Amino acid sequence: MDLAGVEKDIERVIVTEDELQAKIIELAARVDKDYEGRDLLLIGVLKGAVMAMADLSRALQRHVEMDWMAVSSYGSGTKSSGVVRILKDLDRDITGRNVLIVEDIVDSGLTLSWLKANLESRGVGSVEILSILRKPDAAKVEVSVKYVGFEIPPDFVVGYGLDFDEKYRNLPFIAVLAKHMYS
Ligand code: 5GP
Repeated sequence: MDLAGVEKDIERVIVTEDELQAKIIELAARVDKDYEGRDLLLIGVLKGAVMAMADLSRALQRHVEMDWMAVSSYGSGTKSSGVVRILKDLDRDITGRNVLIVEDIVDSGLTLSWLKANLESRGVGSVEILSILRKPDAAKVEVSVKYVGFEIPPDFVVGYGLDFDEKYRNLPFIAVLAKHMYS
């Protein structure tokens, strides 16, 4: 869906489609280099990371495996609750694997620090994180995100996998949702 379909719902576009695609190529090149000669398992966090996984995996010039987890971190509304629940677990054993978690956004960082610890407890070889977006609050939590696409302001954003009430995931850009949509 393009901008014309959502112009009334959004305040402004903060990352364009071209900027996103260029960044994905750049991140994929770094991942290719860092994991040269090693196996790599991408773990996408449903549902937000679907677009990032699809684009990143196709930009990588190597074999990768993909698996998915679904966790709930938001009770309701637009603020993280800190309570994480596994809604869908991995399909395969990850003992000894080099895991790269692919996320859409790090806000408080609570979800990712929980997820990273959870995967580490399963005896992985290594775990790193790639997130397309990072908000300023993420700096307050001890979670190191090795690959970050864009640092963005603390506004509620939608698009490129990120939803509001399950909508807007299919926008090819990232935009700040207009306040009147949720207040
Ligand atoms: P955290 O635990 O880091 O605060 O929250 C991470 C999760 O909250 C993300 O995976 C995402 O699902 C959701 N989230 C955080 N900020 C935003 C936002 O601006 N827009 C949307 N749509 N989801 C967000």
